[in-house]
Amino acid sequence: MLVVTAIADLQSVIKNARLTHQKIGFVPTMGALHQGHLSLIKQAKAQTSFVVASIFVNPTQFNEAEDFKLYPRTLDVDLKMLDESGCDLVFTPTVEDIYPSKDLRKFDFGLLEQVMEGLHRPGHFNGVAQVVSKLFDAVQADVAFFGQKDFQQFAIIKAMVKQLNIPIHLVACPIVREPSGLAMSSRNQRLSKLQKEQASAIYKHLTWAKTNFKQYSLSELKNEVEKCFFSSEGLELEYFEIVDENTLIELNSWPVDVKIVACVAVFCGKVRLIDNIVFNL
Ligand code: AMP
Repeated sequence: MLVVTAIADLQSVIKNARLTHQKIGFVPTMGALHQGHLSLIKQAKAQTSFVVASIFVNPTQFNEAEDFKLYPRTLDVDLKMLDESGCDLVFTPTVEDIYPSKDLRKFDFGLLEQVMEGLHRPGHFNGVAQVVSKLFDAVQADVAFFGQKDFQQFAIIKAMVKQLNIPIHLVACPIVREPSGLAMSSRNQRLSKLQKEQASAIYKHLTWAKTNFKQYSLSELKNEVEKCFFSSEGLELEYFEIVDENTLIELNSWPVDVKIVACVAVFCGKVRLIDNIVFNL
């Protein structure tokens, strides 16, 4: 497995890979890797022939300086995990490589960025679009793989690719969970053992909602789920929203023909966790 930091080095390796391989797959990450990330590498290996991962903690997508500072960084372990998972190339740029000058671009994603994460983390998706567009430009992959865990982020990236006419195919992969149901996340490293147990209630409440939603009106279900969160020790609910998968518009009654996704953001101590679940109609 090759590890490169400079964009010029990355591009010369990719150029050579293109001579011998048909498809370049790309998995962007911020490191502190877990099985969720590795599931994306596995998908990339199954669907493409040369797999590139990037590790870059992107400063422009953090709306809180403290969160950026505390974000876990475990490069040596990450590289070992990627090597063992059969990744071909890891791109580990510095902030100066990605942002040689301040990125002044302002994206407009309309409603997609005005709800949920966009509403609660101002500027977050603009930073995501900045970095992902730069990474796509540097790697020039055929297919990029993302986790369904960051459901709204995937919708934003789809919109960005369309707006910028980027010739890349996007694949969303299922959420990988701990045996307790807790969605794997780099931020889980900041949870104590007790907090991890408390945080496993998130998935319990989501699965309860998915199993029982037909017995309630939408507003009743929301109330019930919110009550569950309020009575969950150690958890503080930021939002619980039930939205249309494509538009992310908040639903106020059960639709007949659109995919329903329930999305949640919760604080467990100082750690902010997100999760979601798709309801089958
Ligand atoms: P991050 O390093 O948090 O920026 O995540 C990099 C990629 O891994 C994103 O596409 C995430 O959606 C994906 N990812 C993170 N956690 C999980 C998970 N538990 N299951 C599947 N994909 C995940």
